[in-house]
Amino acid sequence: MTPIYMDYAATTPTDQRVVEAMLPCFGDIFGNPSSLHGFGQDARAAIEEARAKIASFIGAKPAEVVFTSGGTESDNFAIKGVAWANHKKGDHIITSAIEHHAVLESCRFLEKEGFKVTCLPVDSDGLVDPAEVAKAITDRTVLISIMHANNEIGTIEPIAEIGRIAKERKVYFHTDAVQTFGHLPFTVDELNVDLLSASAHKLCGPKGVGLLYIREGTRIVPFMHGGEQESGRRASTQNVPGIVGFGKAVELAAATLAEEAARLTAFRDRFIKGIFERLGGIRLNGHPTRRLPNNINLSVESIEGEGMVLSLDMLGIACSTGSACSSSSLEPSHCLLAIGLPHEFSHGSLRFSLGRYTRESDIDAVLEALPQVVGRLRAMSPLYEGKKPA
Ligand SMILES: *Cc1c(COP(=O)(O)O)cnc(C)c1O
Repeated sequence: MTPIYMDYAATTPTDQRVVEAMLPCFGDIFGNPSSLHGFGQDARAAIEEARAKIASFIGAKPAEVVFTSGGTESDNFAIKGVAWANHKKGDHIITSAIEHHAVLESCRFLEKEGFKVTCLPVDSDGLVDPAEVAKAITDRTVLISIMHANNEIGTIEPIAEIGRIAKERKVYFHTDAVQTFGHLPFTVDELNVDLLSASAHKLCGPKGVGLLYIREGTRIVPFMHGGEQESGRRASTQNVPGIVGFGKAVELAAATLAEEAARLTAFRDRFIKGIFERLGGIRLNGHPTRRLPNNINLSVESIEGEGMVLSLDMLGIACSTGSACSSSSLEPSHCLLAIGLPHEFSHGSLRFSLGRYTRESDIDAVLEALPQVVGRLRAMSPLYEGKKPA
């Protein structure tokens, strides 16, 4: 049986067309983009072509796109860069309880430096309330950072609305759009954001390259020092193959964005409907409709997520518990705790995330396999004693 990959939220396979677009950068186009000679100019032209393509995809100016090493760096850069650059104006940051660790840990780091952080709660579907954001803003607030869609539970946040509040109150607004970039249609103006993070490897591009969109006029200090690359905003020789691959990945995603979102939404809903028909003692985490087209996050009563992931892996099905970052620890994920799942329930969480190479037959295979795995594990679970088998 060919393995079934359902962990696209952790990373995606690189599209072969992206690999082909990158290959010349390991050949003739090897120059340093900062060099004045022809080799350098060729490399520079390649990254500027990618920049223009990506900027136009989100309705930005090319000069507003800074290439980084990925989503984590972009989040760190946005939060620390804006906090430090605006320290004289204020020392308060607003974020949410379900952000990626790259955002949460950056905020925690700044807290140790004396910044104050308000970490807003979410409701049981994982939604941030824009009215809560408005209430939390003080005259010391320099930055709001709320993710576009959550990587674990798939909930899509009311970013445009929060952005409108931020704009009215003249507070910078950053969103981590790593899970939506290339998957949902948006422009930076529609979202009302000043800063936005994205990462190529979440849209069938290469790993190790991402971007931070920085609206013109935003006060931000560089995170990396030692060179004038990226208009002095990000030192270090650019990852030319990565950036070219990122550009190709965006071009491919843009070409089929609407159809792909509709296709995956249909698969997602077929999966959810099918699993509820076949299995008792489960719940869907995240908002039922305001969710990523590719995300299914389930909690299964009385068993451990790790056991299910390993059993499914033996059957050739790859998924995850919570997020990949937290799956090596046995701590329940901060997102599941934030939506108020009981502790025991949050241990049995499974995330299936679909993508470009997912087929309908894959959904059916998982609908077949998962009830068997759950039934077997429940039969062995002391927690499930006294309850009816699945
Ligand atoms: C994957 C992910 C990141 C980290 O991106 P990297 O490119 O792997 O550093 C950040 N935020 C979210 C929401 C993600 O899903």
